[in-house]
Amino acid sequence: MTPALLLWDIDGTLIQSGGAGERALVRATETTQNVSFDLHQLDWAGRTDRRIAEMILDRLGRPRTAESVADLVEAYLDSLAEEIGRRQGTILPGIASILEHIDKSDRFFQGLLTGNMKRGAEIKLGHYGLWRYFPFGAFADDAVHRNELGPHALRKAVACHGVEFPPDRTFVIGDTPHDIDCGKVIGARTIAVATGKYGVEALETHQPDALFNDFADFEALLNALEVL
Ligand SMILES: [Mg+2]
Repeated sequence: MTPALLLWDIDGTLIQSGGAGERALVRATETTQNVSFDLHQLDWAGRTDRRIAEMILDRLGRPRTAESVADLVEAYLDSLAEEIGRRQGTILPGIASILEHIDKSDRFFQGLLTGNMKRGAEIKLGHYGLWRYFPFGAFADDAVHRNELGPHALRKAVACHGVEFPPDRTFVIGDTPHDIDCGKVIGARTIAVATGKYGVEALETHQPDALFNDFADFEALLNALEVL
């Protein structure tokens, strides 16, 4: 049996942070730009942290430089470390069981393909006890645009596991159209889940290979991995 690789998004897919990420972005904008900012002005879900920082600076009409983006991202990560424990977030349905199952499997391997910075991913998943499941990942540190993250994830998967995963045995799992698109860019199978900001109908228009309301029935996801 050819080994299979699962590449997980974080927010809206594995966990929801109870608004910690959003609050940290708002705080970071206040501290670095000295202005209050309504995040609802932006279509930020599914973007990388560095891309969101660019979008905030653009919206404020502030200079967008490597330094200004890095400053905003750093302030965000500092705030996130404080906010994650203040908010009532949760591990999404079925996820704890699935991650444990995949972790024990010798046929399935998993990593992250996320718009979070690596430090932000560790803050979020560490808080919920899930960081240990991910020996590698592609993060916003690797690329500004999500569609460029896939090749980084594949390269790191080979380095980590010493196994080449063919595209038709690679599954990109996420809650936004951006996740579906970035999976298709690398020829992977795409699995969408409506536990984030997008409902089933909105995700369906982007034609993922499989679509779930949630992963509460984790056998259903495992079945999809077998047949897709
Ligand atoms: Mg997401």
